[in-house]
Amino acid sequence: MTPAWVALGSNLANPLQQLRRAVAALDELPGSRLERLSGIYRSTAVGPGEQPAYLNAVVLVRTSVSPLALLEALQHIERQQGRERTRRWGPRTLDLDLLLYGNQRLATARLTLPHPAMTQRNFVLVPLAEIATPNLVLPDGTLLDTLAADCPRDGLVKTHWQLR
Ligand code: ATP
Ligand code: CA
Ligand code: CA
Repeated sequence: MTPAWVALGSNLANPLQQLRRAVAALDELPGSRLERLSGIYRSTAVGPGEQPAYLNAVVLVRTSVSPLALLEALQHIERQQGRERTRRWGPRTLDLDLLLYGNQRLATARLTLPHPAMTQRNFVLVPLAEIATPNLVLPDGTLLDTLAADCPRDGLVKTHWQLR
């Protein structure tokens, strides 16, 4: 069983409900066990045009399925919740990003591990650090706690202590 860290984000069609529904779906993932859930954070949208704020969270799943199969399962959940791929970084009902899959590094067209933007995003680093194993180290040797402590908190507010 490999620890896989997944980021959740939503800024359309009742984001809180979207996240809770996603958690219920993640709880049913075949070959996997949902082990930890962060609180929920509101973050200012980055991306094209005016967009509603996001709700973000991170979960830990322990899984025996491959990284690509896990990504496909995450995308299936996104589609079940009405995700429409229109423009890049546009508003969405649900975004599920695979942040880390154990210590695996990968750079393919469909899947990059670790997620390439995770170290630059406070809405990923802060909830991840909240639930991460102490001294979690990224595959390149960076200490997560250092990244989380150093990242600016602007636009980020914790809104709920529990994801469910
Ligand atoms: P960003 O990746 O910058 O957060 P995004 O989440 O809006 O942007 P999407 O439109 O959801 O981007 O995904 C585009 C593609 O990224 C997906 O089709 C998927 O194949 C690919 N991808 C590559 N690496 C990952 C990863 N680690 N997690 C999720 N998707 C990934
Ligand atoms: Ca994303
Ligand atoms: Ca995504």
